[in-house]
Amino acid sequence: MDQLTKEAVRYLGYGRNAVDDQTRTMIAESFEILQSIAGRKSIYRIFCLEHLGDNRISFGNLEVQSKSLAKNLKGCDKIVVFGATLGIGVDQLIRRTSLTDMAKAVVLQACAAALLEEYCDECQEKIEVQMRKEGYYLRPRFSPGYGDFSIEHQYYITRMIDSAKTIGLTITDSLMMTPTKSVTAVIGLSTSEENCHRQGCEACSKKDCIYRRDII
Ligand code: SF4
Repeated sequence: MDQLTKEAVRYLGYGRNAVDDQTRTMIAESFEILQSIAGRKSIYRIFCLEHLGDNRISFGNLEVQSKSLAKNLKGCDKIVVFGATLGIGVDQLIRRTSLTDMAKAVVLQACAAALLEEYCDECQEKIEVQMRKEGYYLRPRFSPGYGDFSIEHQYYITRMIDSAKTIGLTITDSLMMTPTKSVTAVIGLSTSEENCHRQGCEACSKKDCIYRRDII
């Protein structure tokens, strides 16, 4: 099973249980169609980061109070503000499919989530290559909604990267992203090397890392 399929299986909640052949086929078919219709777009901007004390940080014109984010960004003096989307075509496909085949729509949802995560990883790798030339190392992506980094920051992040114009990503009044298969995140930049795991703190073996991302 390749990594993308494993992720889709995880999103479907199979855990360590074996996946039946029918689901496996549905996953393969879902990825095939998603790969062809996903309109992957991303944008990022880099800002100076200030640590204001008492778990408050500031970048651009945004001030954030978050213990978990302040901990993760300790030692960073710059920050990447990032947005990515698979585009509206994926939402339309899932909506159309749900009218006739709910099971398939659920598999499509899981596969799209896995595809988005993979796309974000690819984007992050490209940012990493660029930032290494400038002597910076990346911390893991940290999205609004993780730990006590309030979900409402999605709105401010989309404004900072002008995502409506640049990648067609908007936030509704109820803080839902449109297209739904989209991500906003920040990524700390530090001059000290931590060798962060590509899939983030949850997959990283450094259990005693002082920057570890708390998501509880
Ligand atoms: S736990 Fe691992 S991935 Fe997370 S900040 Fe520390 S080194 Fe980076």
